[in-house]
Amino acid sequence: PPPADDVRRRVLLAAPRGYCAGVDRAVITVEKALEQYGAPVYVRKQIVHNKHVVANLEARGAIFVEETDEVPEGALVVFSAHGVSPAVHEEAADRQLRVIDATCPLVTKVHKEARRFASEDYDILLIGHRGHEEVEGTHGEAPQSIQIVNDASEVDTVQVRDPEKVIWLSQTTLSVDETLETVGLLRKRFPLMAAPPSDDICYATTNRQEVIKQIAGECDLVLVVGSKNSSNSVRLVEVALAAGADASYLIDDASEIDPAWLDGVVTVGITSGASVPDDLVHGVLAHLQDNGFPPAEEITAATETLTFSLPKELRRDLRPAS
Ligand code: SF4
Repeated sequence: PPPADDVRRRVLLAAPRGYCAGVDRAVITVEKALEQYGAPVYVRKQIVHNKHVVANLEARGAIFVEETDEVPEGALVVFSAHGVSPAVHEEAADRQLRVIDATCPLVTKVHKEARRFASEDYDILLIGHRGHEEVEGTHGEAPQSIQIVNDASEVDTVQVRDPEKVIWLSQTTLSVDETLETVGLLRKRFPLMAAPPSDDICYATTNRQEVIKQIAGECDLVLVVGSKNSSNSVRLVEVALAAGADASYLIDDASEIDPAWLDGVVTVGITSGASVPDDLVHGVLAHLQDNGFPPAEEITAATETLTFSLPKELRRDLRPAS
């Protein structure tokens, strides 16, 4: 039932939300590559984990493949924002593919840390989701030195060669709080464990979680716009529930809102994952207004100004002829 007339419904719109600098760069990379070289442009894996973004680029001539062996010899391939292992670069070189690497610079930073600490003979405990593309890519930098720790439940089974030479690193899109918990448990086992030189969980993941933590306690419902395979989006649902939202759902767009979710709801929180274009959020806000909710109030927890330059392989060709 709708709430009584004297209850003021509210829509709280989280900021920051949506596109981060790494996603923005990766999507523009595919768009510019299509403009510059023409279709088809092959892309290994989903360029970013959002089904609307992928469908849109497909319609413009991008061909998404799972592995480089599906790309014709000599063709152009873009590597996704999540990063790839050195083995993938080698496969691409073997097939004489022209590579544009759209790996987010903040993922590249974790790869560099992995290489550096492996070369210094550390055992590296990589906290992250086994099977996620980013974790596979980072692990591939030094498979002999890196163990994946999926979550706190795996801490007890970790084995290291020298407990004085251990470091933890992490996936960029984890829950900040759960990762701290896992690190705390690892540190109980390995008190001398070193920490990454700077945060591996990226600014965008941290900020999106921070603002949803601030508003979730006031919300009967938090809708997170994002695709099911988007790690940072899935985390936002978990963070919203942990921070006191009565209910929270992940939706790709407004069409996935079940009318029953809105029954009796007074305050709705809205956010979106780092791979989500803001027009999908506007669709959700319009749907809520059609269902008797007022325009949204934006709640801002941080201001983001970071941008990344396009991959160098692309910049070279985009340079205006002189
Ligand atoms: Fe880069 Fe973070 Fe965006 Fe991933 S979520 S692409 S690490 S900025």
